[in-house]
Amino acid sequence: MGLILILMGVQGAGKGEQAKFIRETYDIPHVSTGDLFRAMKTRTDDLAQRIQGILASGRLVDDDTTNEVVRERLSQADAAEKGVILDGYPRTPAQAAWLEAHLKERGEKITTVLLLELDLYTAFKRAFGRVSDSETGKSYNIYFNSDEIEWGFVEHETDKQFPPRLRATLKGSDRELTRRVDDGNADSVLKRIDTYVENTTPLIDYFRDRDLLVTISADQPITTVSSAIQAVIEAKKSK
Ligand code: AMP
Repeated sequence: MGLILILMGVQGAGKGEQAKFIRETYDIPHVSTGDLFRAMKTRTDDLAQRIQGILASGRLVDDDTTNEVVRERLSQADAAEKGVILDGYPRTPAQAAWLEAHLKERGEKITTVLLLELDLYTAFKRAFGRVSDSETGKSYNIYFNSDEIEWGFVEHETDKQFPPRLRATLKGSDRELTRRVDDGNADSVLKRIDTYVENTTPLIDYFRDRDLLVTISADQPITTVSSAIQAVIEAKKSK
């Protein structure tokens, strides 16, 4: 196996973008346990059904099941040959310990853990303010690039739901931009941030104690973050 990279960061830190950059630059697969679990949706066996129930509830899948899914994925040819970018895994110190032991059995080890650090206030705004153009797939944000869009909050006339609905269009067009349902709910955005902090704080300590953690500010342009990541990987490779 080649590089074994762990990518961590709160929602809105740009993990998806950076995983794509690493995948394209180093030709290694991006393995997200969330994606692996979601992909089981079409399976009808007991395990897959149980996992769908857990996903719907927002709880974590148990460590043994998660580790087994990761073991299976790591044994596939692309990961076994080239390495992997792990995203959303490990989520607990027990998973991290299992991963280290599993890699050791195979004569391998974690190359580095990249923590994309973003203050929680900005993380909230990146999710809550995000709207996208369903035709082009391009994302905008009412807080950060509002010059390209027209936006405002529309009061709910009758049911007075909170928060008022965000309506955004591209400037000069009346095509309405869409918002992910879970981003539009301030409470749900805060809950996701809280869960992240709760789950990852012990993990950050775990990796820092092992001298594996590298912190990169995610509050910079995407290309700047990518360059910082590349510099870290190159330094680790040459060791
Ligand atoms: P994500 O797409 O990473 O937010 O993951 C979606 C869901 O998959 C989570 O809410 C958990 O239920 C489950 N999940 C993903 N990764 C893990 C993990 N490492 N450990 C336990 N559950 C996980």
